[in-house]
Amino acid sequence: MLRITELRLPLDHPEAALRSAILERLGVSDAELLNHTVFRRGYDARKKAAVVLTYTIDCEVTDEAAVLARHTGDAQLRPAPDTRYRLLAHAPADFYAEERPRPLVIGFGPCGLFAALILAQMGLRPIVLERGKAVRERTQDTWGLWRRSELNPESNVQFGEGGAGTFSDGKLYSQISDRRHLTRKVLTEFVKAGAPEEILFVSKPHIGTFRLVSMIEKMRAEIEALGGEVRFQQRVDDLVVEDGHLRGAVLASGETLRADHAVIALGHSARDSFGMLQRRGVYLEAKPFSIGFRVEHPQGLVDRARFGPNAGHPILGAADYKLVHHARNGRSVYSFCMCPGGTVVAATSEPERVVTNGMSQYSRNERNANAGIVVGLMPDDYRQGSYEGPVNPLDGIAFQRFWESRAYELGGGGYIAPGQLVGDFVKGQRSSAFGDVQPSYKPGVHLTDLALPGRGSLPDYALAAIREALPAFERQIKGFSMPDAVLTGVETRTSSPLRVTRGRDYQSLNVRGLYPAGEGAGYAGGIMSAGVDGIEVAEALATQLLGLSFVD
Ligand code: FAD
Repeated sequence: MLRITELRLPLDHPEAALRSAILERLGVSDAELLNHTVFRRGYDARKKAAVVLTYTIDCEVTDEAAVLARHTGDAQLRPAPDTRYRLLAHAPADFYAEERPRPLVIGFGPCGLFAALILAQMGLRPIVLERGKAVRERTQDTWGLWRRSELNPESNVQFGEGGAGTFSDGKLYSQISDRRHLTRKVLTEFVKAGAPEEILFVSKPHIGTFRLVSMIEKMRAEIEALGGEVRFQQRVDDLVVEDGHLRGAVLASGETLRADHAVIALGHSARDSFGMLQRRGVYLEAKPFSIGFRVEHPQGLVDRARFGPNAGHPILGAADYKLVHHARNGRSVYSFCMCPGGTVVAATSEPERVVTNGMSQYSRNERNANAGIVVGLMPDDYRQGSYEGPVNPLDGIAFQRFWESRAYELGGGGYIAPGQLVGDFVKGQRSSAFGDVQPSYKPGVHLTDLALPGRGSLPDYALAAIREALPAFERQIKGFSMPDAVLTGVETRTSSPLRVTRGRDYQSLNVRGLYPAGEGAGYAGGIMSAGVDGIEVAEALATQLLGLSFVD
């Protein structure tokens, strides 16, 4: 199999033009090209009026060696890498014949889901413990907050089957280095579970919320069919640690499960569980994260800014953006989790706090584009008042809580979020009426002054940096600083504020048998990287359990 990269064709090329371009590129006749598949399709929109599609093509020819010999030194024509995933091993059929504890997977977000799936595929029959509810019931609870201002602290946007990414844009790309092609394994499993095939080849795949829900159920069914168990509403409240080794997990019900190995994939919002880990002496450290607002613009404005006359083209879909600004006060402001044609969602897991995030459906056809506009923080920023001592690993959580509670207050209660028009925010004046952009956040947005002196919605340095960044982003997306665009606060759960540090063998630095994983442990950011981390951690755990030698 050969791989051609950077094969460029105009946006509206006829279907047959692709085969002709491949033949020309390879220098072979039609009969010599046995077949071809699109491995990836992206676009180059730097020239808006002449958008170009860029293909990566895998193809089979009658004489591969001859084609390669004719193209020696051509970096864009090479043998295709083998991207198939192979399980490290399979447990012997009688592995559990003698009494031995099964591995636990705590948390059933994308990381726990893939960790459990790989363990199950290896015949290791994991027991999954998830504090929230199964995805259908969870959907009802999540709507309860959005439609009736009723929060269920154990079943919401952050907690429950599928984890934090279930009610999301379902963006399935990541910038992790992936020399083992594990992202391909994640995408392939998603397609098996019902995701559209195109996610395997478009450069920025996404699946939206509704499809994710049924896919997760199918993946759970596979884990169960392979002998795994998935238990909902089973919060792990404590760990049993003896002589530096994990020996069990204590559930909220009081039941203790014996276990020598557990993946803990808790997500970034399991604040009580992080407190428990600290009390148990598990090594933790504070890490950077970001805070800011969600901004909403008309999607049409973003489409026109990115694609000019090609705005609305079905292949291009709703346009996204990625923006960065380095502010004069030394802070970096950047766009986060941009959701084209989506909605801003209430994403708190704690009572009387307001947190924003974004989601969309597969069609991405809602009126507004939204994105987090966030400012990077360092652990030193989490100190409160005049305290100058060392930063406690849990200080970032206290910092997040402070600003989430302030947002709740500024919104006036009932999980209504505080908001302001971009024009007013830049000028430093309170907003009193919406203009051309109607915010999508439910249960609602209360217009105010997000930078009210002494009662601002973010620290002063963050407000100053965002105030400078919004007009600067205009240079990259024309219309970005339109006065009627709406800011909704606050975005605090951008990533975990701490790390549950692990060694090269993926185990906690000081508790053997404990495998911190995914976003909450500080090793992933997003669905794909969390899934990949789940695979790697499951492999490391299986290596221990099956007595294989560990290759890092
Ligand atoms: P999580 O998904 O957070 O899962 C952790 C799970 O652990 C939860 O289900 C929780 O209930 C459970 N848990 C916690 N504590 C315990 C305990 N003590 N006992 C038992 N169970 C416990 N990423 C993207 O890549 N693309 C997107 O489009 C995207 N959009 C998003 C939209 C929203 C609204 C949100 C909130 C996030 C979005 N993300 C997106 C981020 C993405 O969801 C996360 O990066 C990803 O889910 C992290 O996976 P995880 O498995 O590490 O943790």
